[in-house]
Amino acid sequence: MNATTTPTSTTPTDGVAGIPTGLFIGGRWRDACGGKFFEVENPATGEVLAAVADAGPTDADEALAAAVAAQAAWARTAPRYRSEILRRAYDLVIARQDWLAEVMTSEMGKPLAEAKGEVAYAAEFLRWFSEEAVRISGDHTTTGDGANRIIVTREPVGPCVLITPWNFPLAMGTRKIAPAVAAGCTMMLKPAPQTPLTSLALAAIFQECGLPDGVLNVVNTTDAATVVERWMSSGDARKISFTGSTAVGKILLRQAADTVMRSSMELGGNAPFIVCADADIDTAVEGAMGAKMRNMGEACTAANRMYVHRDIAAAFSERLARRMAELKVGNGLDDGTQVGPLIDSAGRAKVQRLVDDALTRGATALTGGQLPDGPGYFYPPTVLADVSPESELMTTEVFGPVAPVIPFDDEDEVIARANDTEWGLVGYVFTQDIDRAFDLGERLEVGMVGVNTGVVSNPAAPFGGVKQSGLGREGGKVGIDEFLEYKYLSVPRRQGR
Ligand code: ADP
Repeated sequence: MNATTTPTSTTPTDGVAGIPTGLFIGGRWRDACGGKFFEVENPATGEVLAAVADAGPTDADEALAAAVAAQAAWARTAPRYRSEILRRAYDLVIARQDWLAEVMTSEMGKPLAEAKGEVAYAAEFLRWFSEEAVRISGDHTTTGDGANRIIVTREPVGPCVLITPWNFPLAMGTRKIAPAVAAGCTMMLKPAPQTPLTSLALAAIFQECGLPDGVLNVVNTTDAATVVERWMSSGDARKISFTGSTAVGKILLRQAADTVMRSSMELGGNAPFIVCADADIDTAVEGAMGAKMRNMGEACTAANRMYVHRDIAAAFSERLARRMAELKVGNGLDDGTQVGPLIDSAGRAKVQRLVDDALTRGATALTGGQLPDGPGYFYPPTVLADVSPESELMTTEVFGPVAPVIPFDDEDEVIARANDTEWGLVGYVFTQDIDRAFDLGERLEVGMVGVNTGVVSNPAAPFGGVKQSGLGREGGKVGIDEFLEYKYLSVPRRQGR
């Protein structure tokens, strides 16, 4: 398939056919310099969906130049103007929910129902930040001696590098693009190579909504290290917002140090899921299904370690295993599928390795644990009982549908074990005692806590972690702050009046 030069359809409904496959730079769709492409695969079938322009360093430089050229005029636009572009994008994304969901399922694997849920979640960032764009506020005070006015204003930080992962291709895009647009920043978006089509579809929607040329530039590449380094070392890009692995986040932070760039990092997690003896077991199992099985477990918020009080560990594990075993695994595009394939063969091999390690160290598989035959990167929903604390699963983000259950005896012990990790994104606490819920929630070293719920993500809430899970927050009232600088004007007051 060849790259297109213009978006081919304004009302696409036909699989990936309506999506431009070029680079989107300065408001134009074009091939990569050198004409390279890479193929996008459906992880359920191995089918090649499209060939997408594969950017190199010259393309990276042009995208940066386009963002830099557009920045000054874009920063001066009226907040309402930016707000209405976001609102139009919200309306279009919602209007095309089914189509976008199908695109995402095709390139990423998640079941259609989940993909539709992600489209709604992703759209909500557009609406939320359309509302925030017109609420950017400052401050006005006087110096202590009364001699000067202090007038504090907010300005966009400048051109931004946005890097997104493959697990939530649409929502991770809107979670970064929407606040950047609201704040008046231009940007270079580099999506994950596994899922470029969703980002290209979103770029076409923004173009249709009247986003000025050069504000959003989308650069797909199989050589992220080279392309992104061009931007990081340029001195012209003023901010990096990254969602992905802790290892890559650290590389980018080192690069950001050289040009002193503002940095927002959403990195890995190793979420503890604590079920106290007094928890309602049905609520806890329901929460576990959400916290573990959303996105086949391929989420940084996924419960990675399920600590269940010894008195109820067997009952909890059995019920969870029953629910997990009932799930229908298959191609996400097929009716009734509840669990799609994992993203690729490396992702699946890692899951199998971690499960094998836990089994070798004495765990029991109550369901799953075996690689299925046939095409696609499928892995069965798996519950492991009596997982040893020494298992590699305890210190590694599994990113798959595997629930390891570890019994515990007392609260101090479980908090110590839950916090014994370099990560700190999210934790979950299940108990019917409100004091215990607050106490455990406060003692967990994480950025977010789900209390009797397995889902914390919401555009109105500040998403982010502590320790090596990241820096900064996305969404909520503070989400836009990541894209704004303070500026203060000192204005002397007339004396003696
Ligand atoms: P995963 O292992 O889940 O794919 P990564 O952290 O490797 O997580 O990928 C997240 C995003 O970071 C993707 O868009 C990927 O292309 C990008 N990426 C990977 N390596 C680098 C790098 N050296 N510099 C910049 N971006 C990178």
